[in-house]
Amino acid sequence: MSRILIANRGEIAVRIIRACAQHGHTSVAVYADQDADAMHARLADEAFALTGTSAGETYLNIDSILAAAKSAGADAVHPGYGFLSENADFAAAVEAAGLIWIGPTADTITALGDKVTARQLAQKVGAPLAPGIDRPLENAAEVESFAAEAGLPIIIKAAHGGGGRGMKIVHDLSEVAGAFESATREAVEAFGRPECFVEKYLERPRHVEVQVVGDGQGRVVAVGDRDCSAQRRNQKLIEEAPAPGLTDEQRERLHRSAEAICAEVDYRGAGTVEFLLAADGTMTFLEVNTRLQVEHPITEVTSGVDLVAEQFRIAFGEGLSLESTPQPVGHAIELRINAEDPGRGFLPTPGRIDVLDAPGGLGVRWDSGVRAGDTVQPAFDSLFAKLIVHGPDREQAIARTVTAAKELHVEGPATVVPCSLAILTDEAFTGLGDSGVDGIHTQWIEAELLPRF
Ligand code: ADP
Repeated sequence: MSRILIANRGEIAVRIIRACAQHGHTSVAVYADQDADAMHARLADEAFALTGTSAGETYLNIDSILAAAKSAGADAVHPGYGFLSENADFAAAVEAAGLIWIGPTADTITALGDKVTARQLAQKVGAPLAPGIDRPLENAAEVESFAAEAGLPIIIKAAHGGGGRGMKIVHDLSEVAGAFESATREAVEAFGRPECFVEKYLERPRHVEVQVVGDGQGRVVAVGDRDCSAQRRNQKLIEEAPAPGLTDEQRERLHRSAEAICAEVDYRGAGTVEFLLAADGTMTFLEVNTRLQVEHPITEVTSGVDLVAEQFRIAFGEGLSLESTPQPVGHAIELRINAEDPGRGFLPTPGRIDVLDAPGGLGVRWDSGVRAGDTVQPAFDSLFAKLIVHGPDREQAIARTVTAAKELHVEGPATVVPCSLAILTDEAFTGLGDSGVDGIHTQWIEAELLPRF
């Protein structure tokens, strides 16, 4: 049995602490000053202070976290999502300190964190891929000739980008030079690296992704797929599993492509391969996220696979628990419960939670990092809980989610729930994947819903 340090906070830290307890491991939390009394610090078997109040001083501070791991006598580190979870230097430092890193190797994180390398891998294994230039761009002229050949619109993206930033969509040839320059400049500012690449831009696509687990020795299994098209500014709000309306061929292609891309790098641990799916059926590989995702629970409840337990198994050398992709059971939906006010442009609304009545009932799972009386901290992410609802089919999963969302009662911070309810009850969402329905897509919330919200 291990002592696992959780280099994170909030609901994901709590999720991992629970998994530690269930599997006989000792959980070690770390916390920023203002989190001394936070749920994750209270629930863990042990908790160590990371002195400071900013993310940089605390949950992003490699030296402080390694010092805490040493004081705690930890033998493994779970990074959760966000913070240092996709930081290859941290992964390498953890292993150099003689600890087990619960995630892919530093080399894998580096290779897949570069979107150009990731595209090359996708190309190599024959995954669906929009036309593009699979090497860092040198000048605007090559973008112009690509646009002339592949047609507009195109998208210029930072090779080391993330969080939906550093992307420029080009609709007119006259905009290419300006877009190339600003994309390069923003890439340096935001990510410290200038490399950009270009690919064809898909109009109004759905976001479909595949959860994988790999044993680190070339065996990779797709656990299931999810649709995460309900996004605002490239930030997901609602996710569901399985992705509705895919043909068997499309699903098979996505699952096998995701496995092949990850097998190519002997992927170790849990990961997610993201794709876009256009209305005409065109699919393209987007990127690989080398960590547990926020939305992993909807795959857990439909596949029966405990993904954090699977991460433990793989990290501790016990191999994968599954041979092949399980047949999904029923349908699941996740609402991200963010302290943001949709009536005021999704302005963050940190502050004390005076009342928190969590929903319950058949198929309802409540993953929260806070309880009543706790504070949503302004220095950190506005997501403070997740509502995960499972039903026998999509229609009943939606009905149960609507009931649960209405039952959720929060006093203090405004939340995104009114907006989530508007999405859940809209025909574009309820009919997603049905023939003859213009379903939601990644731009739908901003283009269609918010103007009439
Ligand atoms: P990040 O790492 O910043 O999340 P991604 O490459 O995953 O960057 O892209 C983020 C979002 O940008 C996608 O979910 C999608 O909405 C949009 N996007 C990216 N590439 C394309 C494309 N080729 N066509 C259409 N939309 C795109």
